Amino acid sequence: MQKIDTIAVHAGQPNDEQTGAVTFPIFQTSTYGQTWPGEHKGYSYSRTANPTREALERCLAALEGGKHGLAFASGLAAATACVLTLQRGDHVIACNDLYGGVYRLFTQIFSKFGLEFSFVDAAAKPESVEAAIKPNTRLLWIETPSNPLLRITDIEPAAATARGHGIKTVVDNTFASPYLQNPLSLGADIVLHSTTKYLNGHADVIGGALVVNDDDLAEELHLYQNAAGGVPGPFDCFLTLRGIKTIGPRMERHCANASRIAEFLQQHPAVERVYYPGLESHPGHEIAARQQRYFGGMVSFDLRAVAEESKRFTTLTQVFTLAESLGAVKSLLCHPPSMTHACVAPNVRKQNGIGHNLVRLSVGIEDGEELIADLDQALAQVSVGRKLTAVSS
Ligand SMILES: *Cc1c(COP(=O)(O)O)cnc(C)c1O
Repeated sequence: MQKIDTIAVHAGQPNDEQTGAVTFPIFQTSTYGQTWPGEHKGYSYSRTANPTREALERCLAALEGGKHGLAFASGLAAATACVLTLQRGDHVIACNDLYGGVYRLFTQIFSKFGLEFSFVDAAAKPESVEAAIKPNTRLLWIETPSNPLLRITDIEPAAATARGHGIKTVVDNTFASPYLQNPLSLGADIVLHSTTKYLNGHADVIGGALVVNDDDLAEELHLYQNAAGGVPGPFDCFLTLRGIKTIGPRMERHCANASRIAEFLQQHPAVERVYYPGLESHPGHEIAARQQRYFGGMVSFDLRAVAEESKRFTTLTQVFTLAESLGAVKSLLCHPPSMTHACVAPNVRKQNGIGHNLVRLSVGIEDGEELIADLDQALAQVSVGRKLTAVSS
């Protein structure tokens, strides 16, 4: 079996037989000629199948150590396909520190169709998963490391509990990327990615993916991919395949830079608390050390400042760009309560520990020292305010 760095460059994308081209071609076509009605070379319409998309799907499956990969137009289109496996009256247990868009998909859209959702603290209280199981529970939804607080859920026991009750487990592996963690090997049934993030890695594509081992589940998901139609175009698939080739070196640099930045922030007087699984003080450190290859490229922290001052801080950096999203070569920062998590109700945000003084960094692959210098000069401009007690319990 090939190792992950070789898989990233080779899997699913052989050199072109006709021309020897070493890069898999972009089949920018919507349809395919047929020799007789219904007789074709395996391709009839590009929503159903496209060779460039298939190359990406084979590569994604190989990266996760899974059998079947499915590419989608966005991470949320991939999440939608997972939920479409359910029926009216089914119940989903999800961790409470979810990506805001997934939370919105559950609570504002699928709750209208007779699905029930419970949110539990699967990271700090693993027993809360079993306690939330009902006779109609069909899906357990885990995100680890979670967004934005980088909480770590121990996937193996959670998935085992779910399996014991006939419940399928979805792991949103976007923050870790397949380079750091492979949930199928820990008992998950479906791995979900927003390929927009680390997989593509260059902030120039929106995309999503699912990887599964089970043949029947793959067939069902293929139906939703084709019949609901949330598919990516060939050029986006090409760009994602191109991005994936460097996932190894990128992730190593993301993680090394993030780790240095977390340590720098931890000793800074304007910083109240740092959330990074690589820090020994992080409650999920030991699980992350066992479950992940490295600790990741995301760092969040509470500023010792009031809300307005925390927002102002995010405008003071020069290398970090104030923007949503993550996982790109270019460093980004954001203020989750007013950006990525603005669609989560304020009381729910508060309950989940997302305070007004929270800042999230997506640490890029630039020079680590220059990134630290940038944060240092921005922190120097913040007026350290009253400690907000409601925010970081
Ligand atoms: C971005 C993201 C998504 C949604 O993906 P899109 O590509 O933006 O649709 C889902 N989960 C996580 C953890 C994400 O970061």
